[in-house]
Amino acid sequence: MITECELLESCGFFQKYNATLDMACRGFIKSFCRGEKMNECKRKAYRVQHGEPPSDEMLPSGQMMPENFSWK
Ligand code: SF4
Repeated sequence: MITECELLESCGFFQKYNATLDMACRGFIKSFCRGEKMNECKRKAYRVQHGEPPSDEMLPSGQMMPENFSWK
């Protein structure tokens, strides 16, 4: 069974935020990048639709992180 998203290595969101201690962000990673919702990730859908990855600030839910927002 696949337990990790196949895009982990190339995903800007994951690469940027996988070490964060912020609980909300960790929740996204747990449920999307390493969880049962990986195939519902809006970042993946964006790649398919646009042929390129979205901004690192786009969340797996499709929302953008607010400007000047810090997870730290
Ligand atoms: S944010 Fe989406 S595309 Fe990126 S690693 Fe997580 S599940 Fe995969």
